[in-house]
Amino acid sequence: MSTHTVASFTLPGASMGNTRTLTIHRYGDRSTPAKAYLQAGLHADEAPGFLVMHHLMDRLDRLDTENAITGEIVLVPVANPIGISQWRDDWLQGRFDFWNGVNFNRNYPDLAAQIAEQVKTDLGDAADDNIRIIREAAGRVIATLTAADEAGHLKHKLLSLAYDADIVLDLHCDYQAVLHVYMGESLWPRDRDLAAQLGAEVTLLADDSGVTPFDEACSRIWFELAARFPEHPIPPACLAATVELRGLADLSHEMAGQDADNIVTFLTRRGLIRGEMPELPALPRDATPLSGVEHIKAPCPGVVVFFKTAGDRVAAGEVVAEVINPLAGASNERVFPIKATTDGIVFARSVDRFARPGRILAKIAGRKPLKPAGANLLTA
Ligand SMILES: [Zn+2]
Repeated sequence: MSTHTVASFTLPGASMGNTRTLTIHRYGDRSTPAKAYLQAGLHADEAPGFLVMHHLMDRLDRLDTENAITGEIVLVPVANPIGISQWRDDWLQGRFDFWNGVNFNRNYPDLAAQIAEQVKTDLGDAADDNIRIIREAAGRVIATLTAADEAGHLKHKLLSLAYDADIVLDLHCDYQAVLHVYMGESLWPRDRDLAAQLGAEVTLLADDSGVTPFDEACSRIWFELAARFPEHPIPPACLAATVELRGLADLSHEMAGQDADNIVTFLTRRGLIRGEMPELPALPRDATPLSGVEHIKAPCPGVVVFFKTAGDRVAAGEVVAEVINPLAGASNERVFPIKATTDGIVFARSVDRFARPGRILAKIAGRKPLKPAGANLLTA
């Protein structure tokens, strides 16, 4: 018998006569101890995740008919119905709330302090009991949260669907990029099999990026509670990661099908699906700290010529790109080379070729931390 159910949730309306709806797919048994939650398109202009969801649902429907889904798997294939409607001048925006300019993947609530208050007298010596106690408290805390606007309601609903999962995968993409993964430093190396199975060419680690994206809102609860209560065993019980599925235009059935296969294999390895487990591929490159990412920024207005593409290795002192301003004077005055200051991998770069002062043109993953603890490690 099929376990696949489809539910919808209507966000409270923000303008008369208009409502938005989240569609939630569930597979497996909600009473099983293992839960995975996956969503795509929180940044609604990032198309590859939607295609991976299409292929993933095909695979899960087939596995479901074979009674092979042994955990609970929740999918929200289109996670941002607000952003997906942000067409402007024939271009889908989808990254920032038009209402206040806030990125849809920033400023999720940090619940650790409220949860700590609720569990401080209940925690004990058994890790499994502590996980249950913390999840129950997190559910109570999330249920009391209120939202001031439509995007707040969306964030609250997504968090309420994901907070109690063992695995949370938030599918995104960059502008032009190799496949890369963001996840908590406390999850490494325990959860390196996720990055290895996905073939992540770069894995970036931070427990606190400074801006609380969705994945961090799910995983950081555990890191913070473990630090607050060192006398009790509190494992990092939620493997939450942001998976960047290459660049905006990297859509093909072959790639998306392979990504969906890799997710199924990963979930099989983690006991949520019964089936074959091929040998874990080698991780292409060891993880590096998120604080080691160098943002290559434009020094001036102009057009951009890249000398490095996504996936290229770069050494400190090498020119990554030039900004050309044809109005700046003589030939040698019109060219502004931008050099890397760190050794690493160029893992993403901008998709258009315009520069303005301070605009991020490329990102380099290096080993050496470049920013102090507490700094904002992500882009706006
Ligand atoms: Zn994104």
